[in-house]
Amino acid sequence: MTTTIANTKQQQRIAIVGAGPGGLTLARILQQHGVASVVYEREQSPSRAGH
Ligand SMILES: Cc1cc2nc3c(=O)[nH]c(=O)nc-3n(C[C@H](O)[C@H](O)[C@H](O)COP(=O)(O)OP(=O)(O)OC[C@H]3O[C@@H](n4cnc5c(N)ncnc54)[C@H](O)[C@@H]3O)c2cc1C
Repeated sequence: MTTTIANTKQQQRIAIVGAGPGGLTLARILQQHGVASVVYEREQSPSRAGH
C-alpha cells in the first residue's frame, strides 16, 4: 500500500496556468522539490511579455 501511495504521488503533475514570472517561478520551485508540473500559456509568443 505504501508503494502504491508513493507511486501515485510521483505520477502527480501540477497544472500551472500562465507562463508569467509567477508561473515560471512556481514551476522552478516545484522542480527543485521533485514535483512535476506543466505550464499552460494562452499567448502564442512572448511578444506581449511585460505588456
Ligand atoms: C505596463 C506595465 C509595465 C511593467 N513594468 C515592469 C517592470 O519594468 N519591472 C517589473 O519588475 N515589473 C513590471 N510590471 C509588472 C510585471 O509585469 C508583473 O508584476 C508581473 O508580470 C506579474 O507576473 P505574474 O506571473 O503574476 O502575471 P503575468 O505576467 O500577467 O502572467 C500571467 C500569464 O498568464 C497567462 N494567462 C492568463 N490567463 C490564462 C489562461 N486562462 N490560460 C492560459 N494562460 C493564461 C497570461 O497570458 C500571462 O502570460 C509591469 C506591468 C505593467 C502592466
